Amino acid sequence: MELYSGYVNRLVSELAALPGIGDKSAQRLAFHMINMPPEKVKRLADTMIEARGRVKYCSGCYTLTDEEVCPVCANTARDHSLIMVVEDTRDMAAYEKTGKFEGVYHVLHGAIAPMLGIGPSDIKIKELVERCSGEGNVSEVILATNSSIEGETTAMYISKLIKPLGVKVTRIASGVPVGGDLEYIDEITLARALDGRTEI
Ligand code: ZN
Repeated sequence: MELYSGYVNRLVSELAALPGIGDKSAQRLAFHMINMPPEKVKRLADTMIEARGRVKYCSGCYTLTDEEVCPVCANTARDHSLIMVVEDTRDMAAYEKTGKFEGVYHVLHGAIAPMLGIGPSDIKIKELVERCSGEGNVSEVILATNSSIEGETTAMYISKLIKPLGVKVTRIASGVPVGGDLEYIDEITLARALDGRTEI
């Protein structure tokens, strides 16, 4: 026998499929939504559909943006010859919060993880190599992937591809806790990791 109505069950199972939401949280959210005023539910649903439909990759750095080019790439006051490579848009936001980085970014959207079947062609590595090839307008690539095994593997892989192009490649200093997600690290630690970067 089903405990809830079919619609409630569907809502619970859709919510439970989201990352970090267990069955109990899914039930709590589902009942909360059912009791919300219909116009609020509609606003929530519309926001989800619009965000999914309108957010796209920046044509410069591949971060998520509403525009063709993100505000960082569009800013001519930034040093476009200095590219910081991060795993995702949240890492980029973490560095932007420090206010200490004057360059631009390249967002990989993941890290190489053979165990999960994620190879170099599944993340934006080819696009990074393209940015670094050609007219010599990139002076330094800072590898700011996480200090997890996947992040280190990705950094090594990229450095082997980029260095032969004559571009200086640096790695952010350790001090970023091993396995730590960049977005959870405080701004001072991030700024220090950036200052203490070393050539590899
Ligand atoms: Zn951009």
